[in-house]
Amino acid sequence: MVRQSKNALEVKGLHKRYDGGVEALKGIDLTIKEGSFFGLLGPNGAGKSTLIHSIMGLVVPTKGTAAVFGHDVVTDYQAARAYAGLAPQEPNLDWFLTVEETLDFHGGYYGMRKAKRKERIDELLEVFSLTDKRNSRAMMLSGGMKRRAILARALMHKPKLLILDEPTAGVDVELRLELWQYIKRINKEGTSILLTTHYIEEAEQLCDSIALINHGKIIHQGTSVELKKQYKKKTLEDVYLSLVGREELTREQAV
Ligand code: ADP
Repeated sequence: MVRQSKNALEVKGLHKRYDGGVEALKGIDLTIKEGSFFGLLGPNGAGKSTLIHSIMGLVVPTKGTAAVFGHDVVTDYQAARAYAGLAPQEPNLDWFLTVEETLDFHGGYYGMRKAKRKERIDELLEVFSLTDKRNSRAMMLSGGMKRRAILARALMHKPKLLILDEPTAGVDVELRLELWQYIKRINKEGTSILLTTHYIEEAEQLCDSIALINHGKIIHQGTSVELKKQYKKKTLEDVYLSLVGREELTREQAV
């Protein structure tokens, strides 16, 4: 029986040790409330991708549990995956498929009927200014267009939890603003968001809750205001620098 849950994500005591011995997650506890815009910040190697991949069923945790809207990512992985959508950092598109085929196959994989797929594809192509690239193969798209296609694909099956892994890395200002406008809108309409980003100001502006992760552990979690208070810092960037032990880089000290 599926437990009713209002939490978009509930992670309890999650551990991951890769073959070879690296312990990427060392007991993660994390709750994302439904409707939240949640930021996960941490340096390279902190365990962000391992956590996201565990949620998406791409990595099998060694210990602990994770559930998306009450569906366990291991024992009930099909439902968990249907509730979640991932826009990965790497543009992992099939280069030989057209934009339309990319979205259509994804929708089909999630059991959407043809008419529904067509309707959703038209809508997403319009939203992401991809309508005239409909029949272009992924390999022919510019970097920004690939990013848009990845986002459209993640949204195709209308996930209730959208996971964005560094969505604005290397993206121009125009696309960045366009993207946030759309993400903020779907968040207001009820989609829960899990965002990882290196743009800390972006997280500060967008996220209602932020978790700091390092060495496979959640160090602190709260609103940006709470974190600044706790670390006695003026900006979230300074909190972050303190977390990674690089306080000398604070902008206050820069001329
Ligand atoms: P982040 O996304 O925060 O940069 P990762 O989850 O990618 O962090 O990595 C966490 C740790 O796990 C790092 O030490 C990394 O080298 C290691 N790691 C990641 N993926 C693998 C893998 N497939 N096999 C072995 N070690 C891995």
